[in-house]
Amino acid sequence: MNLAQQIEQYLPQQLLALVQDISAQAAKRGQRVYLIGGVVRDLLLGYPNFDLDLVVEGDAVKLAQRVAETSQAKLLAHHRFGTAKLRYENFTLDLATARRETYARPGALPAVTPGTLKDDLIRRDFSINAMAISLAANNYGELVDSHHGKSDLEHHLIRILHPGSFSDDATRILRAIRYEQRLGFELEAQTAQLLKRDIPMLDTISGDRIRHELELILKEKQPELVIKRLAALGVLPRISPSLKGDGWIAEKFDKARRLKKPTQLASLYFCLLVYSFSERRIEQLLARLNISAKLSRAMLDTLRLKTSLPLLDKPSRKPSEIYYLLREYEPLAIQANALASESPTVHHHLQLFLTKLRYVRTALDGEELKRLGISAGPKMGKVLQILHKAKLDGEVRTRTDEKKLALSLSLKL
Ligand code: ATP
Ligand code: MG
Repeated sequence: MNLAQQIEQYLPQQLLALVQDISAQAAKRGQRVYLIGGVVRDLLLGYPNFDLDLVVEGDAVKLAQRVAETSQAKLLAHHRFGTAKLRYENFTLDLATARRETYARPGALPAVTPGTLKDDLIRRDFSINAMAISLAANNYGELVDSHHGKSDLEHHLIRILHPGSFSDDATRILRAIRYEQRLGFELEAQTAQLLKRDIPMLDTISGDRIRHELELILKEKQPELVIKRLAALGVLPRISPSLKGDGWIAEKFDKARRLKKPTQLASLYFCLLVYSFSERRIEQLLARLNISAKLSRAMLDTLRLKTSLPLLDKPSRKPSEIYYLLREYEPLAIQANALASESPTVHHHLQLFLTKLRYVRTALDGEELKRLGISAGPKMGKVLQILHKAKLDGEVRTRTDEKKLALSLSLKL
């Protein structure tokens, strides 16, 4: 099957020109270049994906160096892995030396040696990700589909390439469900059986690798679908017995996405995932996934704040009280609790802190207080604190209000 026409229609003109230039340079060096992996899958499905992976039969790093010398591209090379990134103004391209992988034991990082395109395809996770398109002049556009990925795409199936696939690399268990749910596909029957059999192999995978796959899941449009399915299959309990994929998670994830600023959305999902955890379980999960200090703080704060929420469940709470109750917590933990709490009062107070109170500053600073005759030291600290509190509670509004209050305080204190 030849996809030359589809490539021309699918790729933006500029990107197409870059790819063709790389292929021409490769040809001069006696190398062949292919589009591979996700882009081929998505091109056949008609979904946009301009994260291009190119595989080179021959040294990809040397080729990338040559391309970088003759273009505006910035080069980032990993000699050890035989991979290189070319960064252009609007695009980045990943080039990899075609390679063969062998696994000494389950979960180990594979031993890698240079290989052919066929070797590079058989090391991949699923048939739908194991297709390539030739960019060489003599068979430009030719689909290389040694594992019947196109047929599996047409039948909506996720299929591993050999029975040892999940035990070689159990991250593929998480990947299989990510693609299954993203694409609305099904696990092929034997793949489903082997996936279930090999769930315990997740124990052979490092925390960093499991966390990375979870992060990829949380970047999906609807991660709750993946989480729910992983729970139903018994995959989640293997990571932590307290992880759930129920309706509560689905509802809160959906709400989280509707927030105006979904920066750090993945981190917010992590906080929601541990909302029902005990202290002990969360500590175990943080260690198992080697979660960063910052995110760990947010996740722990989420639970700590949850136990203090009753204090915020009083409509009469003054803004300054809310401020002092919340200022020590990570904003992400406050956001997670705002999503999770069922009480409108609590929700309102948490939102008030996040959108307003945490940004409130006095108009006067230490320098100006000095000019008013208040000398630096504990007294000034006290004045600033009272000004801030008064500002939070709306008791002072203007600079003049603050000056008046500061002067009267300087006489009293
Ligand atoms: P997307 O980025 O849209 O999720 P992708 O196919 O580009 O999909 P990546 O995670 O970027 O996925 O990986 C690129 C390719 O590398 C995949 O298509 C797959 O062929 C291969 N790959 C990634 N992880 C593994 C793995 N654990 N085992 C085998 N092959 C893998
Ligand atoms: Mg990708």
